[in-house]
Amino acid sequence: MTATTARRPPMFKVRRSRIHGSGVFATRRIRKGTRIIEYVGERVSHEEADRRYEDRPADDNHTFLFIVDKRTVIDAGVDGNEARFINHSCDPNCETVTESRRVFIEAIRTIQPGEELSYDYQIQREPGDPKDIDKVFACRCGKPGCRGTMLSDPPKRKKKAAAKAKSKGKRAGAEHHAHGRTVSHR
Ligand SMILES: [Zn+2]
Repeated sequence: MTATTARRPPMFKVRRSRIHGSGVFATRRIRKGTRIIEYVGERVSHEEADRRYEDRPADDNHTFLFIVDKRTVIDAGVDGNEARFINHSCDPNCETVTESRRVFIEAIRTIQPGEELSYDYQIQREPGDPKDIDKVFACRCGKPGCRGTMLSDPPKRKKKAAAKAKSKGKRAGAEHHAHGRTVSHR
């Protein structure tokens, strides 16, 4: 990083969100394609993530897990940064990109100061989900195309991988970049 960029004000700050709990907001214009932040936290196995959160009640969607691949889950509840507060939206301005098993959040369009950052969690539906599962993962992003839920149906071609990644109490993300976060934010 050059001295010039180092002196620039931060791109975002965490504050209360109308979507849900805390959110992350742009503090200046963020150009499309900008890598904004890495999703960090303790890297654990799926088994360990299950163990940590298995005692949560079924209607508690508050953890900070991000599935990297079938071996690794990032638990941002431990040593996480501001990335864990980025909310889901059905019409997001960011996406997650996985590179060498690290996860980054990048702008998919130019974001204006004051806009809340968001990406599509694409939490997968699973067989045997309770009837009120959409309520547990309700989306309040307020976008015209809002699905009303953070859940999405897995794309057909990915079905096999998704089934493998699936395990008790945890949800696999669907898309190319292993977008997938089991859950949402406080
Ligand atoms: Zn929505």
